[in-house]
Amino acid sequence: MYIQDQLQEIKANIAAAELRAGRPAGSVKLLAVSKTFPVEDIMQAYADGQRLFGENRLQEAMGKMPEMPSDCEWHLIGPLQRNKVRKALEQGFGLLQAVDSLRLAEAVSRIAGELGCTGRILLEVNVDGEESKHGFTPQEVQELWPQLVALPNLEICGLMCIPAPTEDPEGARPAFRTLRALAELLRARGPLPLPELSMGMSHDYAVAVEEGATIVRVGSAIFGKRDYGSPLVG
Ligand SMILES: *Cc1c(COP(=O)(O)O)cnc(C)c1O
Repeated sequence: MYIQDQLQEIKANIAAAELRAGRPAGSVKLLAVSKTFPVEDIMQAYADGQRLFGENRLQEAMGKMPEMPSDCEWHLIGPLQRNKVRKALEQGFGLLQAVDSLRLAEAVSRIAGELGCTGRILLEVNVDGEESKHGFTPQEVQELWPQLVALPNLEICGLMCIPAPTEDPEGARPAFRTLRALAELLRARGPLPLPELSMGMSHDYAVAVEEGATIVRVGSAIFGKRDYGSPLVG
């Protein structure tokens, strides 16, 4: 019952944060991040009505997705190598959340064209400008925007970020604000509506909801502590 209790609590917390922020109830989607957890655990969440799941490694996701009922939607939230784009598109993710370069976006666009599908993506933005991190800097997204929006077979649905971990959930608020402000700026430039902002994880999702998240990616708060000794952790 642990997973179902956690899910209920998180959904209540999200609803409370929506209310605090004056946002309509149900504006935020809960992505249950199931990486490293077995299908039995994911089924428990499913039994409680959860349908949206996130995995960060393609290989691991490919093992689990066929085991789960077909009305689940899956997002790939981890880094994607260009030579794995075809596999990822064939796998039928609802959203590739971590497109972190123009070259990767171009690859998704080209291969989606070959497969006759549309690549639904988020652009990952490195909001706190750490050198070591994946993602476009906010400045790069703005500079590359005309090239990005011109790519065919691609639906850029919004932005995502993974801010540097902070002790206090409040510490992530400035990063969430940065992502939201960037989305507003890009919407103003057009032509895309960019409805999705994917931000907030187990310890700071409530702050993310207050700052406008439409997707929160919550793993350990639902499924428990991950075993980092597992070879599956990416
Ligand atoms: C693992 C992961 C999460 C979930 O992290 P928790 O702290 O367990 O909620 C969210 N986003 C990404 C990109 C992840 O890799």
